[in-house]
Amino acid sequence: MQSLTFKRGVHPDDAKALTMDKSIKVILPKEGSELFFPMSQHIGAPCEPIVQKGDYVKVGQKIGEAKGFVSSPIFASVSGEVTDIRPVLIPSGGKSLAVVIKNDGLMAEYEGLKGCPDWTKLTKEEILNKIKEGGVVGMGGAGFPTQVKLAPKEEIDHVIVNAAECEPYLTCDYRLMLEQPEKLVEGLKIVLSLFPKAKGVIGIEDNKPEAIKILSDMVKDIPNIEVASLLKKFPQGSEKHIIYAVTGGREVPSGALPSAVGCIVDNVDTIISIYNAIVEGKPVMRKIMTVSGGAPMNPGNYQIRVGMTYKDIMDQIGGFKVEPAKMIAGGPMMGFTMYTLDTATTRTSSSLLCFTPEEAYIPPESSCIRCGKCVAHCPMGLQPYLLNKLALRGDSAGFLAHHGLDCISCGSCSFECPAKRQLAQSIAARKRIEGALKAAAKAKAAKAAEAKK
Ligand code: SF4
Ligand code: SF4
Repeated sequence: MQSLTFKRGVHPDDAKALTMDKSIKVILPKEGSELFFPMSQHIGAPCEPIVQKGDYVKVGQKIGEAKGFVSSPIFASVSGEVTDIRPVLIPSGGKSLAVVIKNDGLMAEYEGLKGCPDWTKLTKEEILNKIKEGGVVGMGGAGFPTQVKLAPKEEIDHVIVNAAECEPYLTCDYRLMLEQPEKLVEGLKIVLSLFPKAKGVIGIEDNKPEAIKILSDMVKDIPNIEVASLLKKFPQGSEKHIIYAVTGGREVPSGALPSAVGCIVDNVDTIISIYNAIVEGKPVMRKIMTVSGGAPMNPGNYQIRVGMTYKDIMDQIGGFKVEPAKMIAGGPMMGFTMYTLDTATTRTSSSLLCFTPEEAYIPPESSCIRCGKCVAHCPMGLQPYLLNKLALRGDSAGFLAHHGLDCISCGSCSFECPAKRQLAQSIAARKRIEGALKAAAKAKAAKAAEAKK
């Protein structure tokens, strides 16, 4: 099978050997521990708490109601008392209002969603509603509410399962493919039932031959599902780049969604969560996470309850053999550096990487030597050295004119730069400023329009 790919990109060491053979271990929160459920753990409007301090809640009970079209409800993953509702730290470094629940250890279950083993009897609206009421969002990190993604205006001819898992160190999707392939295939069938003219393609990087074999065998007699082998290259799992590879060159226009080119892309765990919500009646309450790097005592793949802190998780799996010099939520290329493990996990938490001082060392920046490597490797065809200059200068017009907002923060430019310039970091910071300026201008215009009335 020939491996497909996209233009440019980089080849970091995948560092997956540490955990790829470690099967998923279930860890439950300790009795008496507090779990934190941020109301903002998806793209879109934050949820509103629908419980109060002192309430008793059960596993699977809705505690945050979606507000707005692009939003997704939040569920308790343990039973116990609501001890507080207050802002807490989230992995991106920001804060979000959260419901705090003290786990009573009983795991008393709430009679909420009903499972539907024969999902073929459901209408399209019923399927979308169960996905929404199951709190399913893009579990690979994006957190986009899945029921919105699965209701595009455009005609869809490809439903792509993003099984590339191209970030180094991460192996949680790989383990899910090996350990729960039936759920993945059945979940994909459910999504395909919404798009009768589409074919399903499970795109897997070729550094996971066992997953390619298991899934290829499983779908060989299903006419509208196939497995595509993808070249091990970063960022192969970016939506735009997996679409390019799988469809033979379709390019998503700047600012558009994959549906603009007839595609829907969903991560492995998102598809499995669709299965869990519809067939088993289980909303999103658990997450499969890779814990890796040289510092943890027991790197591996773990099924955790959403809302546990990273500290609780590390305490339960043996802690550290070396004091970590750097901790990252997510992958090393696109994840968020964390300064404390007292941070709540969310339904998009895919990993915790803890690096030794040697692993974390980054040489100091030096001057650009105009080698052009950042340009040659940028998967978006941008000029990172120039965007870096414009960002540092605060040149908003120049930054926008050179398509700075098209940067996907993949880190490939920083990775390749021999001068170790903080290219991706400075561009991401400028993007945040541009986003804030845009929001302020929008608010000002709305205020002016209101005053005119
Ligand atoms: S400029 Fe952005 S998209 Fe291009 S390589 Fe750098 S981080 Fe990735
Ligand atoms: S890779 Fe680094 S040194 Fe080379 S042109 Fe880009 S910024 Fe300059």
